[in-house]
Amino acid sequence: MYDWENKDIWTNKRKWADHSNSKSLILTFDDGPSSVLIPILDILKRHEAKAMFFWQSRLLHKQRPWKRVVEEGHIIGGHSLRHRDLTRLSLEKQHHDIKSNKEHIENLTGQKMKYFRPPYGQFNEDTLSVLDKLDLIPFLWEVAGLDWEHKQDPEHIIHHVINYVEEGSVILLHELKQTVLILDELLTELKAEGYTFGLPPK
Ligand SMILES: [Zn+2]
Repeated sequence: MYDWENKDIWTNKRKWADHSNSKSLILTFDDGPSSVLIPILDILKRHEAKAMFFWQSRLLHKQRPWKRVVEEGHIIGGHSLRHRDLTRLSLEKQHHDIKSNKEHIENLTGQKMKYFRPPYGQFNEDTLSVLDKLDLIPFLWEVAGLDWEHKQDPEHIIHHVINYVEEGSVILLHELKQTVLILDELLTELKAEGYTFGLPPK
């Protein structure tokens, strides 16, 4: 869950909203790379939308099309080694987990990994100090599509996002089948409301 007490530090909106275009949103996809990455990339391309992907390194098989993600202008961030709640790990174990996630992604892409999203949005003081040490910027979200809960009724994902989205929102989605089913319609609706899709500095 989002740590509201730390909202001032963690809210991405204030830091990253593109103020030249106040209706700019940031789309983020967690828990990949998965088997539905390609259809997600296809839909984003069709809408000329850029997004951030937060990847678990245990899922990062070489055959996943990471190259296409980079070439099409998206950002790959870290989402830990194996998605454990970091607040249950010692400082040393958090360091090992996040560092290995960063190295894995950087070794594969040859690019610096700049952003990290802690699993479940859970973090503590140790997480912050590790991120600082590894020169990583924490990146949470403001609007959850709750796509992991709506496998049976993916239309609800659209409603969650449309109901809560506001200027500059960072939107949390996942690399899931049900998300693919509604992504085209979701982007179409957001664009109809005047929103565009931007990215933080690379
Ligand atoms: Zn996750």
